Amino acid sequence: MKLKTKFSIFSGLLIILVAFSISALLIFVEEKYLTNETKQKQLSSINNLARVAKDSIIREDDLMILNYINTIRKTEGSISYAMVVNNESKIIAHTDPLLLRTAVEDPIGIKAQTCKDVFMQTYKKGNEEIIDVASPVMVGNKKSGVVRVGFSKTIIDNTLKNTLDTIRKHIIVVTIPVVILGLLGALIFVHTMTKPIKALAQGSKLIAEGKLDTKIKTKGKDELGLLAEQFNIMAVKLNELDELKRDFVSCVTHDLRSPLSAIESYVNDMLEGGLKEFERNGIENLNIIRNNAVRLSRLIDNLLDAAKLESGRIELDLKLTNIHSVINDVAKLFALYAEDKKITIKSKLSELIPGIVIDGDKIRQVLANLVSNSIKFTPSGVPPGGGTITIADELITDTEKNQRFVQISVTDTGIGIPAENLDEIFSKFTKVSNTKGTGLGLFISSNIIELHGGKIWVESPVPGSTKGSKFTFTLPVKSNK
Ligand code: ADP
Repeated sequence: MKLKTKFSIFSGLLIILVAFSISALLIFVEEKYLTNETKQKQLSSINNLARVAKDSIIREDDLMILNYINTIRKTEGSISYAMVVNNESKIIAHTDPLLLRTAVEDPIGIKAQTCKDVFMQTYKKGNEEIIDVASPVMVGNKKSGVVRVGFSKTIIDNTLKNTLDTIRKHIIVVTIPVVILGLLGALIFVHTMTKPIKALAQGSKLIAEGKLDTKIKTKGKDELGLLAEQFNIMAVKLNELDELKRDFVSCVTHDLRSPLSAIESYVNDMLEGGLKEFERNGIENLNIIRNNAVRLSRLIDNLLDAAKLESGRIELDLKLTNIHSVINDVAKLFALYAEDKKITIKSKLSELIPGIVIDGDKIRQVLANLVSNSIKFTPSGVPPGGGTITIADELITDTEKNQRFVQISVTDTGIGIPAENLDEIFSKFTKVSNTKGTGLGLFISSNIIELHGGKIWVESPVPGSTKGSKFTFTLPVKSNK
């Protein structure tokens, strides 16, 4: 069953239930109120009659009570009879003048005669049910007689029934439009609630089908609006990731294909050229083949390292190491490549640097990545006299933490990195503009430095300028125990 149908049925039933419960409660309360009011009226009638009877006895004025009895009969439709009986059981006032001066002999009357307080009895008179309410007439502390009023229960019940019927009709007249309006409101509410959910479901379906540029319209700032907003953010991120993935796959494919094609073509050349061709260009060709094989193996190493770092499977081989020898190795390794691009590699090494406990091979890999990037992103021969790459180190003491660090920086005079990309450059697959490569080198480097307990960052060597870049990383100085 659809959510919309479920919501509609549920809210519809709820509205009907609430409306009818309130109506039933109103009718019940009204019935109670009316019954109570009838009783109060009966009591006040009998009390008034007792008061007038008392006055008439004190004033010895029979006419007074007779007049009163005649008037109450006319004003109160439910009164069947009213009478005043003296202590000798003689009727001294009655709504039926024929019964005046007669004796009370019926069992109800005899019982009523003995009452000490308001006393009620119900009995049948023909088809009519009568409620006989009696009360003593007290003059001082002395009982001077009894007043009795007979109420027709049938008339009372009919009046009550008619009043309740009218109330019921009124309630129905009010309830039906309220229920209809409530149901309409519920339908509108259900529609507005399920519309964004439907849009979200539709959006998710499209994303699952690979349409990652899907966007859903967001309205309002409620939870559903926020969910839709988050959904759109997620879709944008997924799209970015997808682009990144495509970009990465094409870069990896390119980086795999180009050295492989080079190797294949040089091997073919040598096979086709025979011994003479081998004698002429053999060594040079083999060097090219070896360089391409190294490129391939570096790419595969990078991919493997990234995978290992992500799964936490990389382990450091920590040894006390002379960091200067690592720096010099890297400078030497890239000297020829730099020279080809008319770039000078300089080292500014501090004599204060102690031996540090590091994984020498991994730190060499970090430095090699930074230096090779610097060569890659420094145009040949610029600035006049050629570009420069400076590798420097210094000993830093953090007095607060009582910790010493070796701080190593690689500064170049190359194209630099735009300020807005400085923070993201260490993330996986991140490359600035359309440069070649997998965007894994700095990700791996930053992870290796973090594994050593150090930090890595990049900045512009000249504050405010976009020229050149300066990568710095720290390595804590600790003993190898
Ligand atoms: P890759 O492994 O593909 O070389 P890196 O993670 O090492 O990727 O570098 C990511 C990106 O950072 C590069 O594509 C480049 O845009 C930028 N970058 C890195 N080093 C430098 C540098 N020295 N000068 C300018 N841009 C750089």
